Amino acid sequence: MKKPPGLDTPVQYVKGVGPRRAQEFAEAGVHTVEDLLCRLPFRYEDRTHFRPLASVRPGEAVTVAGEVVECGVRRTRLRRMENCELVLDDGTATLGAIWFNQPFLRKLFKRGQRVILYGVVKLRAFRGRPSVLQMEGPDFEIAGDERDAVHMGAIVPVYERLGSVSPKAVRVLMHGLLEKIPPEIPEVLPPSIVREAGLMPRREAFHEAHFPKSFRDLAALNDFASPAHRRLIFEDLFALQCGLLLRKGKAEESPGIAFKTSDEIREILKKILPFHLTGAQRRALKEIVDDMTVPRPMHRLLQGDVGCGKTIVALLAMLIAVENGRQAAFMVPTEILAEQHYFNIRELLKGTRYRAVLLTGPRKGKAKKTALQAIAAGDAHIVLGTHAVIEKQVQFHRLGFVVIDEQHRFGVLQRARLIEKSRLSDSSDKSGISSASRQDEGLPDVLVMTATPIPRSLALTLYGDLNVSVIDEMPPGRTPVVTRITDEAKRGQVYSFIRREVEEGGQAYVVYPLIEDSPKKTDLKAAVKMFEHLQKDVFPDLSIALLHGRVKSEEKDAIMQRFKEGGVHVLVSTTVIEVGVDVANASIMLIENAERFGLAQLHQLRGRVGRGRRKSYCILLASARLTEEARMRLGVMEETNDGFKISEKDLEIRGPGDFFGTAQSGMMPLRVANILRDRKLMEEARRTAASFLASLEGRSESERRAALFGVLERWKGQLELVTVG
Ligand code: ADP
Ligand code: MG
Repeated sequence: MKKPPGLDTPVQYVKGVGPRRAQEFAEAGVHTVEDLLCRLPFRYEDRTHFRPLASVRPGEAVTVAGEVVECGVRRTRLRRMENCELVLDDGTATLGAIWFNQPFLRKLFKRGQRVILYGVVKLRAFRGRPSVLQMEGPDFEIAGDERDAVHMGAIVPVYERLGSVSPKAVRVLMHGLLEKIPPEIPEVLPPSIVREAGLMPRREAFHEAHFPKSFRDLAALNDFASPAHRRLIFEDLFALQCGLLLRKGKAEESPGIAFKTSDEIREILKKILPFHLTGAQRRALKEIVDDMTVPRPMHRLLQGDVGCGKTIVALLAMLIAVENGRQAAFMVPTEILAEQHYFNIRELLKGTRYRAVLLTGPRKGKAKKTALQAIAAGDAHIVLGTHAVIEKQVQFHRLGFVVIDEQHRFGVLQRARLIEKSRLSDSSDKSGISSASRQDEGLPDVLVMTATPIPRSLALTLYGDLNVSVIDEMPPGRTPVVTRITDEAKRGQVYSFIRREVEEGGQAYVVYPLIEDSPKKTDLKAAVKMFEHLQKDVFPDLSIALLHGRVKSEEKDAIMQRFKEGGVHVLVSTTVIEVGVDVANASIMLIENAERFGLAQLHQLRGRVGRGRRKSYCILLASARLTEEARMRLGVMEETNDGFKISEKDLEIRGPGDFFGTAQSGMMPLRVANILRDRKLMEEARRTAASFLASLEGRSESERRAALFGVLERWKGQLELVTVG
């Protein structure tokens, strides 16, 4: 490399990379020098002095070094494995290391070689021989020259493998790169923020985070809590929060609709209500209605555990919009849920002048055409549906209120799309006179709902551009669901239990895991086979039905209807019933292969029972041989019914990336920060971002842009995309 690499230099030109590796790096999301620098070590080792082998104890996680005195591959007869084993000697004692079923590792080791191992020390017992200390599958590194300052005699970074580049080679690469980056690298944070938050300069932070020199607290480094880490994480979170706040501010500036409420409307709503709202529901409704009466578009998240009664709150708000001459749309993630809401809402609206229509994917032909016409003409007051409601052909008529149920299943972009549609809604009234422009009509109010409650600091991230209402109270008369984990050996008992429950008037769900749209049909087959087995061999005298994604719409409706009316005793199903399905008399939820579900999903499924006065049970039938992770997950289900606790645990176990999945689309990707680990800093970044944005008020557009340059860069146009209008 001739001139020093800038941060935006393609990674291909970094010494030791080249075109082939650059390709691999690109696949891992590393395109530029800056991307590479942001790949921080995931762990640090103190290699200034190694622990003498004589001093290590079972249970400790340690880094040790020594000479290989024995190495080989051992075949185990019992499980037919080929394990690579070696013995290390450092002069004080010896230690064994074993890598199960990885015989190829053997080629890497030679007697007399110096090797560094990191792992947990265990005591391995042999029959008739003294037990020895051993590490199972430790991280290892073959030590080179002891004087090599990159790998030895310091606090040394440990990296993830990057493409085909080994962790050790990444260290060499990173070291070389850091030596070459120019002394001045541009600051991305506003200088005042760097000063006030007491942050380390950026360049120094990169150096210190990769090869710590001045800060030597190993534990803090491994917790990503060193000053260098703090600085780089803060940078990420500040940009994120600025963007979210900008988006929020911009949305709140746009013209909205000032809905009116009156005693008359209140009376109408009261008549529809089949029960008294809980205090929490009333509070949430008030927050929503307060937003509705303001001439700014509402963006509110309604958060509440499964079964707390979000739907009725949303319905009341929609009806206020309808009474104001507006159309309302209600988007849900699955067809079954759409149909169920449709059915319930139609019941509630019986005898009123309000008309609801259903719009789902498979609904084709005449029914769909009629629905589309009713929507466009404004004859439909409430439009209920799946993704189908954001399809091109749908033309709303004065859309004023939008509800998105189970928001975590949709992305930010889909939300934007639905809002966007309101502006394209049919602008002519029935007399055929076109109104001048949709702009003066104002943007609709948006209510998103989720039953995946998450802690506030995380809500700030995921829904940072929304205001939040919480329903933290269940309707009266619910009894907590009792949850038990069991396995195949008890299947017979589980069946007798179901039978007894049905005889006493209850109903049961039996659920199979099925990844929707998965190319593998084996899962579906399992559900079908089980259904046949249950019907023929186990409960020949009971009424069993089968429900899955490929059952036709009308048939699905009919089955759900029969289940609701009690005509079906046991409903065998795939996860199509995961969200929203509401049959108060159902009292058993049997989940097969429970270990294959995530916690949030299990909680959703369990939420299908315990909806009425009948005492309810959730039975998790799992494999007898569970992984540690699966055992933890299922254990959480036995311990608590609290959705908040469950999603926290879920986050902990799965990590945020997986947890948020598609919901993150439309959000700025984080480079260093981890929204779970760095929650505290998130709150601080939020406050700092808010006061920084406030300090820019009254400045010219170009000044603001300049000050926010770093933020806009990071969001790469996504800010504009979502805040159009
Ligand atoms: P979720 O918040 O999970 O979407 P739902 O809106 O589906 O919950 O409500 C669950 C059930 O509780 C429904 O049958 C609903 O009719 C009932 N429900 C809601 N609010 C109340 C209430 N205040 N009193 C009694 N039942 C209620
Ligand atoms: Mg719901």
